[in-house]
Amino acid sequence: MNELSRTAGVVIVGGGVIGLAVARALALRGLSDVLLIERSSLGAESSSAAAGMLAPQAEADRADDFFHLACQSREM
Ligand SMILES: Cc1cc2nc3c(=O)[nH]c(=O)nc-3n(C[C@H](O)[C@H](O)[C@H](O)COP(=O)(O)OP(=O)(O)OC[C@H]3O[C@@H](n4cnc5c(N)ncnc54)[C@H](O)[C@@H]3O)c2cc1C
Repeated sequence: MNELSRTAGVVIVGGGVIGLAVARALALRGLSDVLLIERSSLGAESSSAAAGMLAPQAEADRADDFFHLACQSREM
């Protein structure tokens, strides 16, 4: 921790698929002052366990706003 910068424009806590995707999206937009902090290994927690299913229909119990958001996200 002592070697880390103490300031950054953006700080992302957690190097799972979400944190890494956010860091990638920021880098693609030209942001360079981004600090990603991971307490263990990148992608080693939930993200390493996921089965790869993108199936909102299998998770939802009704066609509410969240379900439609999940479907749009899957299409992207
Ligand atoms: C068995 C299983 C099967 C799954 N199958 C699917 C599937 O088929 N389809 C699907 O869409 N989703 C699935 N999921 C869900 C999916 O894996 C998670 O929603 C997704 O990986 C979450 O990503 P994340 O980056 O938020 O979390 P994580 O991958 O858990 O990453 C969070 C990271 O933050 C770090 N961290 C936490 N606290 C701190 C801290 N204080 N300081 C620094 N670092 C910290 C952790 O070490 C970790 O690396 C599954 C999950 C499990 C457990």
